[in-house]
Amino acid sequence: RKLGVALVGLGKYSTGQLAPALQETKFCRLAGIVTGSPAKASQWKRQHNIPDKNVYDYKTFDRIIDNPDIDIVYVVLPNALHAEYVVRAAQAGKHVICEKPMATTTADARRMLAAMKKAGKKFSIGYRLHFEPHHREMMRLGQQQAFGPVQRMVADNGFRFNNDTPWRVSKALGGGGPLLDMGIYCLQGCLYTKGQIPVSVTAKFAPKTDPALFKEVEAGISWQLQFADGATADCRTSYAENMTSRLRAEGSKGWAELAPAFGYGGLQGRTSQGPLNIQNVNQQAAQMDDFADCVLNNKPTRVPGEMGLRDVQLLEAIYRAAETGQKVSTKDVVAVFDKV
Ligand code: NAD
Repeated sequence: RKLGVALVGLGKYSTGQLAPALQETKFCRLAGIVTGSPAKASQWKRQHNIPDKNVYDYKTFDRIIDNPDIDIVYVVLPNALHAEYVVRAAQAGKHVICEKPMATTTADARRMLAAMKKAGKKFSIGYRLHFEPHHREMMRLGQQQAFGPVQRMVADNGFRFNNDTPWRVSKALGGGGPLLDMGIYCLQGCLYTKGQIPVSVTAKFAPKTDPALFKEVEAGISWQLQFADGATADCRTSYAENMTSRLRAEGSKGWAELAPAFGYGGLQGRTSQGPLNIQNVNQQAAQMDDFADCVLNNKPTRVPGEMGLRDVQLLEAIYRAAETGQKVSTKDVVAVFDKV
């Protein structure tokens, strides 16, 4: 049988990406929904043929413990709400996928890990690009030092935010601004290309172009990761500027680059030797099928909760570096990697 997935939060990502992807998956299917909107509930029930008994709101959610149709709970809520719903899903004895960023504080991330550990269920973060073939190739080229050790990386990912999802500029719900939302892809990309944790980070906030919109969070930020061997990664993100969406790595014998790098499709890559002719895939279907395979065959996921904690620790260090203007040590960050 296919594993039953319940989506928690039926916003843009669930509607536009995850629900369609669940029609392409081999090992899982959309079995349930959790929503605060009765109108959305009836529309999704009709459209996806979901029985009443598999429809929950945020109050009745805990009753999912009694529902054998639901194997996996997928939390797709504003960032600051991830912790509460992952903990409640753990208490209901479900396997869990949590969207990025895992949490808005390391304290929340640790609480989520403890709850999932206690439940003894599989836990992964919605890091779709770990299942995307261009990014797998970047990991391979970088980690296997195809161009010599990676010495320099550059990444950017940002867009002009139009306030369609106001939680993204709310400190309480977003936890931060574009760094947590879009910059996390640059951070992740540099980590899995280099295959190491940086030893330190420096950072600088971009000017607040629209002080009313960016009252609570940064409009943009640039940062540099410094690695033990002297390699560096220069990253930028923004809610005030449409950026290229780029991940580039250079060694003494050549380079590799993805641009556009971080979207749901249309990714393109090239190296100093020529274009990478790699097919795009349905990233979310690949990600969810991999997780279902981990559940069905008791395998570890490439993107575990501990990796989510690692990234939240690094994001906090980047903010601290920007706030203080100082270089911040990242030596104590959890060393978890997706090794090729
Ligand atoms: P969204 O605003 O479109 O959806 C969020 C949903 O949460 C909405 O349906 C909203 O009604 C619901 N919600 C429940 N309680 C809420 C509350 N108190 N305040 C506000 N909304 C509440 O956002 P989205 O773009 O779908 O993002 C949701 C999550 O998915 C975020 O964590 C985001 O980082 C992540 N995401 C991941 C990717 C990816 O590529 N992996 C892409 C987009 C979003």
